[in-house]
Amino acid sequence: MVEVPESHPRYESLKTRESLVEGVEKGITSKAGLIAHGRGEMFDYLLGERTVETAEKAERKALAEMLEADDPVISINGNVAALVPAGIVSLADKVDAKLEVNLFHRTKERIERIEEELKKNGAKEVYGKKADAEIPGLDHDRALCDEDGIFSADTVFVPLEDGDRTEALKDMGKKVITVDLNPLSRTAKSADITIVDNIIRAVPNMIEFEPFYGEFDNKDNMSLTLKGMSERLISLSEKVE
Ligand code: ATP
Ligand code: MG
Repeated sequence: MVEVPESHPRYESLKTRESLVEGVEKGITSKAGLIAHGRGEMFDYLLGERTVETAEKAERKALAEMLEADDPVISINGNVAALVPAGIVSLADKVDAKLEVNLFHRTKERIERIEEELKKNGAKEVYGKKADAEIPGLDHDRALCDEDGIFSADTVFVPLEDGDRTEALKDMGKKVITVDLNPLSRTAKSADITIVDNIIRAVPNMIEFEPFYGEFDNKDNMSLTLKGMSERLISLSEKVE
């Protein structure tokens, strides 16, 4: 791996990419996951690569929802496992949630590698291997989940998720929380709580933040997020030299 000098203006972003490339080499992340990350990065530019106020609010509300849930599950894919393996285990501990590996590009090997990675980072139990239940309305592989994991959860945290599965989980009556840098994705639009932030900031924030138990309207919050992005672009357009 090429060493990235700390002085490089895009140091953080390059380190993050390196973690994903390593994830591919370790058999954790899919190649398509690299492309999905690129789509996310583009939206991070529009945010100014920071946690905006609406994201902080959604992060605090998501914490409250998971703490209040009877059976919360955090869904882990290859990008999440490569980017925040230790953080996601700490977050699961904090809110007392189960961890389940749930992949779009599902292979037995990748499930096992991710389970290993999470255990190396302190996870005691990792769901997802049994795959003894199916989310209705999805084609076979993508539908697979554990009966005592995602299938029976009341609240699922699905960071960096695909729109189809988000909608299918909603149709099962579950409360769905997501992290998605793209506020225009189907996932972002269909979740109950949408955190528009980079997962590398969202997870450490959620470990640190206090939960917010007050009123929260996801549609209003999303609308403010889009407005913030648009206003930032307009303000930048006025400064072009
Ligand atoms: P949808 O199916 O929901 O309309 P999509 O097909 O773009 O959206 P996927 O590629 O299935 O979504 O999932 C990846 C999503 O995760 C993208 O919307 C992308 O913006 C977002 N994403 C990628 N990397 C990150 C990251 N590091 N932090 C937060 N979000 C990210
Ligand atoms: Mg998709």
